[in-house]
Amino acid sequence: MLEHKPMLIAGKDAPGEDGIAPLVSVNPATGATNHEVAAAGPRAVDEAVRSAAQACKAGAWTQMLPMQRARILFGIADRMERDGDHLARLQMLENGKVWSECVKQVKSAAATFRYYGAVCETTGSEVTPARGNYLSMTAYEPYGVVAAITPWNSPLTMEAQKIAPALAAGNAVVLKPSEVTPSTGLAVGRIALEAGLPPGLLNVLPGTGHDVGAALVAHPLVRMVSFTGGTESGRRIAEVAARKLMPVALELGGKSPHIVFADADIDAAVAAVADGIFEGSGQSCVAGSRLFVQRSVHDAVVRKLVERARSLRVDLPDAAGAEMGPLATFAHRDKVERMVADARTAGAQILAGGARPGAAALARGAYYLPTVIGGIDNRAAIAQQEIFGPVLCVLPFDDEEDLIAQANDSAFGLASGVWTADYQRAWRVARALEAGTVWINTYKQLSISTPFGGFKESGIGREKGASGMRLYQQPKGIYFGMA
Ligand code: NAD
Repeated sequence: MLEHKPMLIAGKDAPGEDGIAPLVSVNPATGATNHEVAAAGPRAVDEAVRSAAQACKAGAWTQMLPMQRARILFGIADRMERDGDHLARLQMLENGKVWSECVKQVKSAAATFRYYGAVCETTGSEVTPARGNYLSMTAYEPYGVVAAITPWNSPLTMEAQKIAPALAAGNAVVLKPSEVTPSTGLAVGRIALEAGLPPGLLNVLPGTGHDVGAALVAHPLVRMVSFTGGTESGRRIAEVAARKLMPVALELGGKSPHIVFADADIDAAVAAVADGIFEGSGQSCVAGSRLFVQRSVHDAVVRKLVERARSLRVDLPDAAGAEMGPLATFAHRDKVERMVADARTAGAQILAGGARPGAAALARGAYYLPTVIGGIDNRAAIAQQEIFGPVLCVLPFDDEEDLIAQANDSAFGLASGVWTADYQRAWRVARALEAGTVWINTYKQLSISTPFGGFKESGIGREKGASGMRLYQQPKGIYFGMA
C-alpha cells in the first residue's frame, strides 16, 4: 500500500481537500512511486493562514523571551540531526541527490536553526543617537504571517533558511514546499512541534505553485513572502505583492560566470569548475554554468574538463562512490535535453555528454550525462538562459576588459568565481562583476553567516547572516520624552 502523507495545519495532521488530487511523489532515480502527499486547496490555504494569524495574535511566540524562542530553535536543530538519516533519505527519494550531499544538507539545515537561535538570543532593539531631550530607539517587530515558498533542488536547506529566521524574528510561517519535494518540509514541521513550537506557528501546505502558492501570496492575512525559485515565478509573486504593498524576498535563478585566468592553478580550477556545475546534476542556483577561460589556456582547460566530465561517476544516488544522480524530474531532464538539442542545431559543439547514460541500471531514471558545450557566443540562447542541469558552456576571453563585458552581459547576477594568482586582479574583477557573491580561488563555499542573494534578475533582498533575521522584521522608532 502506498503511504499517504497528510498536510500540517494548526499543529495537526490535515487530510487533503475534497476534489483536490494528492501529489504523487516519483523517485527520479528509478521511476518508482515513492508515496502520495495530501495537497491543499483554497480552504486549506485559508485555514492554515488563519491558524498562523491566530497563533501570532495569541502572543505566546511574540511575547516569549528571545532566549526561550532560541531554545526551541536549538531543539529543532537537535531533532533534525537525530532524524538525519530519515530526512536525508526523504530528500534523496524525492529529488535524486546523491546520498552524501543529502547528508551534508541535513547538517547545514540543522546548523541554520542553531545559527538563528543564537541570532535571536543576541540581537534586540537598538538605542539611536538622540538629537534633543529624548531617548530614541528602534524596535524590530515581526510582520505576522510569513509565506515561505521553496523549490525542489535543495528543499531542506532552503526551507531552513526561511523558517529559522522568520520564526526567530517572531513570525508565524506557512510553508509551501515544492510539489516535487513536499516531504522534508512536512517532517520539519512535525519536528518543530515536538521541539515545543506552539501549534499554528509553522503550517505546511503541499500543492502546486499556480494554485496553492498563488492563493497563499494573495491571502490578505499574509504580510510578507519569502520565495526561492525561478525568475518568472518570482516576477509573478512580486506583481501580486506590489498590489498588496507587501514586502518580498526573492532568491531567483542564475547563469553564473566561472572565470579562469591563464595564471591560475589550472588543476584546482578545473576541479572546482567541474564540481561547480556537475554537483547536484547542475541543479543549483549558483551553478557555475558559463565558464570563461583566457584564450592562451583555453584548449588545455577544455581538455581537462572534458576528461573530468567523462570520468564522473553517474549512478543511483545511494550507490557507493556516486558523484552525480539523476535530474529531479523526468520533465526537467527532457527540458535540459531539448535545450542542448536546440544549441546543437544552432551550431554549438557538444564536447562531452549531450546524451542520457547508456548503462542499463540507469535506463528507468531521469539521468543526463555531464555535458560540456563549446563553439558558442555569450549571446547564444544556451549561454543566456538558465538550464539548471549538468551543462557547462565554455567561452574564451582575451583580457580583463573583454571578460568583464561578457560576464556581466546576462540578465542574471547571482554568483561568480575567479581563478587567478594575481590578487590585485582578483580584487578588481570581484568589484566589477555584477553578482551577489564572488568566490576567489574557491567556488560554492556557502556559509550561513554571510548574506546571500542576487543582483539584477537573480533576486531582491539578502538571506543568511545576522541581517537575514531583519528580512522578517519591520523597524519601529520609539521616542521617550525626557523633559
Ligand atoms: P519554480 O519557480 O517553478 O517553483 C518554486 C516554488 O514556487 C515552488 O514551490 C512552486 O510551486 C512555487 N510557485 C511557482 N509559481 C508560483 C506562483 N505564481 N505563486 C506562488 N508560488 C509559485 O522553481 P523550481 O523549478 O522549483 O526551482 C528551480 C529554480 O529555483 C531555478 O530557477 C533556480 O535557480 C531557483 N533557485 C534559486 C535559489 C537562490 O537562492 N537564488 C536557490 C535554489 C533554486
